[in-house]
Formats: sequence, C-alpha cells, structure tokens
Amino acid sequence: MAVPVVPSETEVYEPPAGLAAGCSLPNYEEVYQRSIADPEGFWAEVAKELQWFEPWKQVLDWQYPFAKWFAGAKCNIVQNALDRHLATWRRNKAALLWEGEPGDTRSYTYFQLAREVSRFANVLKSMGVRKGDRVTIYLPRIPEQVIGMLACAKIGAIHSVVYGGFSHEALRTRIQDSEARVLITADGGHYNGKVVQLKEIADQAVAHAPSVEVVIVVRRAGAQVNMEPARDVWYHELMSLPIASAECPTERLDADDPLFMLYTSGTTGQPKGILHVHGGYMVGVAATTKWVFDIRDEDTYWCTADAGWVTGHSYIVYGPLINGATVLMYEGAPTAPRPDRWWGLVERYGVTVLYTTPTAIRGLMRFGQSWVNRRDLSSLRLLGTVGEPINPEAWRWYYNNVGRKRCPIMDTWWQTETGMIMISPVPSTRLKPGSATRPLPGVVADVVDEHGKPVPADHDGFLVIKRPWPAMLRTLYKDPERYRENYWEKIPGVYTAGDSARKDKDGDIWVIGRIDDVLKVSGYRLGTAEVESALVSHAAVSEAAAIGKPHDLKGNAIKVFVVLKSGYQGTDKLKDDLRVHVGKELGPIARPDEIDFVNSLPKTRSGKIMRRLLRARELGLPEGDTSTLED
Ligand code: ATP
Ligand code: MG
Repeated sequence: MAVPVVPSETEVYEPPAGLAAGCSLPNYEEVYQRSIADPEGFWAEVAKELQWFEPWKQVLDWQYPFAKWFAGAKCNIVQNALDRHLATWRRNKAALLWEGEPGDTRSYTYFQLAREVSRFANVLKSMGVRKGDRVTIYLPRIPEQVIGMLACAKIGAIHSVVYGGFSHEALRTRIQDSEARVLITADGGHYNGKVVQLKEIADQAVAHAPSVEVVIVVRRAGAQVNMEPARDVWYHELMSLPIASAECPTERLDADDPLFMLYTSGTTGQPKGILHVHGGYMVGVAATTKWVFDIRDEDTYWCTADAGWVTGHSYIVYGPLINGATVLMYEGAPTAPRPDRWWGLVERYGVTVLYTTPTAIRGLMRFGQSWVNRRDLSSLRLLGTVGEPINPEAWRWYYNNVGRKRCPIMDTWWQTETGMIMISPVPSTRLKPGSATRPLPGVVADVVDEHGKPVPADHDGFLVIKRPWPAMLRTLYKDPERYRENYWEKIPGVYTAGDSARKDKDGDIWVIGRIDDVLKVSGYRLGTAEVESALVSHAAVSEAAAIGKPHDLKGNAIKVFVVLKSGYQGTDKLKDDLRVHVGKELGPIARPDEIDFVNSLPKTRSGKIMRRLLRARELGLPEGDTSTLED
C-alpha cells in the first residue's frame, strides 16, 4: 500500500524573467499539450529541423515493445553533428575546447574536428572496419575520445565506449560481449596527479579477448608502454599515413542502424548493454539539448561527465555538436591540484552552461564555499544536474554559491536506456529543490501502482513512460528477451524505469529512489532519497546512504551510513541528534534504527551510491557484480 510520506515541497524558485522569456521553450505548457495530443506529428516536426539523406516513410513503426523511429529514412548523426555546420559560418567556430589535467590545452573548430574525424574514419576503414563492426574506445578524457566516436558513427561502425577508469576485467567483459575488432586506447591519462596506465590494463583485457585484431594507441602521457608488433599501432603514426586522407564520405545509413552500445552504471545489479540507433537518438538528443540547456551560439557549454557514460554521449558529444555549441572538455579530477580547479575553468573559459552530478556537488561542498568564491563565475547562466536525486541541501548550495542565485538548475532525470533527458525543468520552469519537475515535450511520464493505475498526488509509485520516444533504446545488445522482460513486462503496456517516484499536487515529479531500495517501515514506504536528504540537511552531514534491513515487527528497520563533514566527530550524541533531526524532517517513522559513521560510501564510477552493496555486506549476502565499483 502506498501511503503519503512527506507533504509536497513548498520551497519554489521562480525562473529569472529575462532568461525564461528568451529561452528556446518559453511556453512549455502549450508545447507540451500539443506534443502529447499528437506525439508522432510532434516528433516529425522536430525531426524536420535536422538533415536527412532521405525522408522517412513512417514516423514510428511500433511493434510492441520494439520501436523503429523514422522508418525508411536514410541519415547519419555525423551529418548533423559536423557536416552540416561546415556549410555555415560555424565552420570556423570552436567546437571543442580541451584542457588536460596538467594544464595543456587543445582546441578544434568545427572544420578541424570534422577533418580529424574524416581522417581517422579512413584509418579505421583501412583496417577493414565496416558498417556494423564494433569498436571499443577505452581512453582518458581527451579529444580522441570524441574523434573516435564520431569516426565510427561516420562509417556506420558501432562504438562501445568503456570508461577509462575501469579495471581490466570490466574492460574485457565489455569487449567480449561486443566482439569488438578494434580497441582504441592510450599510453596513459592524467587523473588526480597520477598517470593511469591504460595500456597495461588494455593489454591484460585483450589477452582474453581474441576478437580484437588491432589496438590503436594514442600518445597522451608519454609513458613507456609495451607495443605488440603484430597488433598495436600508434594513433599518430596511422594519422600521418596517406590513407588518413581528409576525404571521407559520411555513410548513408538506415535510421534504424545501430550507433552505439553502452553499459548502464551497474548501480542496481549487473550492467546492461544498451543499444541505440542513429535516427531516433539524433532527434531526441538534438531537441532536448536545445530545450533544457537553451544552447546559444555564444555559449561555452561544459558537461563534466566522462564520455564513458551516457551523459557524455548525449550531452558532451552528440546533442551539443548537433546544436553547433562550443563544448569544453576537461581531462582530470575536480580537485587537481586544488579544490577550485573547476571554478577556475569556468572563469577562464567563460563557461555559461554547467552540467554536473549531485555526487560532484556534494564532494565540492565539503571543501567549503571559499574555494568557489575566489573565482569569477559571473559568466554562468544555467546549471544542470544528473545521475541521482539531488539532495535539496546540495541543490541550494549549487544554486546559491555556484549560480549566485541567478542561474536556474535543470535537474534532469533520464537513463542510459532513455538516451535523452525525459523529465526536467526548462529555463522557464518554476523550480523546487529535489524535483525534476515535468516531462519534456513528447514524453508521457507517470507514477503508477503495480497495475499501471496512476497513484494519487503525494503517494509513491513506479515511474513509467507510457509512449515510445525517439531516443529510446532499440534493445539490449544480443538480448531482446531481457529487454522485453526488464522494461516492458513488469507493468504491461508501459516502460518501467526501475525508479520509484511521487508526483506532488502541482504535477511535479520527485524521484525518491530505486524500486528495489524502497524502505518499507510499519506499512509506510519511504524513498532512500528522502531519508538521505533529511540527513544531508543536518549541518554535520556530508553524504548519507539508507538501506532497509529485515525486521520482524516493522518489515524494515532503517540503517543509515553517514559521512561527516570535516571537523565533526561521530559521537553517540550526534547519533541521537541525527535521529531527532530526521524525525523532525520526515516524521517519527523515518527515524533511523542504526547509524554507522563511515569515511566514504561505495559508489559506481559514475558517482552513484551503491546501496545494494551496503545491504549485501550488512546482511552477509553475496556482493553481486562489482565491476563498476569505484576504488
Ligand atoms: P543500472 O541500471 O546498471 O543499475 P544505473 O541505473 O545507475 O545503473 P544509469 O543509466 O547511468 O545507470 O542511470 C540512470 C538512473 O540514474 C535512473 O534510473 C535514476 O535512478 C538515476 N537518475 C538519473 N538522473 C536522475 C535525477 N535527475 N534524479 C533522480 N535520479 C536520477
Ligand atoms: Mg538503471
């Protein structure tokens, strides 16, 4: 039974008037209503803003639960991300501004980036890479990561980007699953003052991944590496050969041809191999980048994610480039060499739009606001967050100290599976800290019970999407049955996201945790985010994770793991204070039964708290897949 747990938040922030009126979606409500009256007509209209080699015959060919968007069309995402800009003034606009952790820099205009992509695409072709072949990209955050992705897309190869911080086992299983023929890696990458030995890790992985015929190695760190003569080649040597010519046609692909495969973060279990295709994905990311980030030509747009996550795919590479944006990319750690590195980047590059994660915000909060205050952040216009529910306390800190109360925060809910942002404010939306607010145009999201019936306002339920959307995953790689079961059969007829949420009386959506993590206490249901946010709002707490432990009487006892801010001691007195505090915030039912003070929480390498691991350890159960666990 779903029971109301907390009242709707009443803390609201009006959008800055000038910004709201001039943004790309000033009339959200009107556009939204129109979009859901005729979703296919709406998406067709959006798609017409992009270039296609041949138009579609059918906007949506929906064979439940498999969708073919823009069926019959010929296109290539690279035509929209690069080629079409070359015929405009954007040819000489900065596409990519890059800074390495040691402080070295590189930049590419659209013309230069397109040229490098063509040259590398020719290199791949010369190695026999053809349409449909898989290429694994295991690189640090350097321009070649972007060039590699776009070069694959250009010739119809499928890229599989693996985060450069993964272990050799994680890399190996991903290569094996995709049967990649080519691996692109580097002699090292800079992170937190150290050189990460990517090539060594790649060698270990490839030793057990016989599908790999060629390893292309980018020289980045200048580290000594072992080169297997029959297998390994330097990127710069290949790029200096005549085969690396700048003439490379962009392949005419079916809208339904695969663009990339990518694994989910592994927060709730074994990562899933998600497959996305050119046509629908390109429409979804193009439109949502414009609506949410309101990209303008004078912007410097910075998404701090790694391209190894879907956020990097959709909102570093494809969405911003399709919109002709200037994208900033930074290789290293936020605190290298000091906790103001990010703020210094904002100042020096004049960043206008900043998109990051709650975990990064909480991490930087810990150093205090003096690090933020010593930099000029007046260029910022818009902020974004993604990855986890953002604790209202972290939201306020981001809003007040980074955005200096001028910049609205786009709390974007989406998934590797959805490909594009689904629920999010736009710059004209009234904001509530901790709420992702409303679905974007063309997206029909709802909160329902196990039978698919909408739950009343302020009651928790399953977050579902009721209609197909263009950037939706095409399937799980090599596993269409699991795709069907995982997403479309839990509640028949709709896409089940795996998150629990509630809608408040205004219709704003609050994501409160993973379905599996919901805490059931004496007949009440609590979201992990609610308990954790209550803890984080206490002055002593930096981060918190909540889990449920089986309890004879209550169903679940609540156990919380708390990371304290520096200067605080984990005393019994503080435990009592925290219990009282949570009770005041959420009601006595939510008071934690057990509190552990810890130095850190287990997280995925994309920065999400792995509650399942805390629970497994607590209950002495097997830990499950930990391939994405941060060190
Ligand atoms: P796995 O599916 O392997 O368990 P994952 O779900 O963490 O991993 P991702 O696709 O990277 O993999 O993350 C999507 C999830 O992140 C969402 O389902 C949701 O739980 C969470 N999430 C993303 N953005 C937000 C947001 N703005 N607010 C709340 N939760 C968010
Ligand atoms: Mg998931």
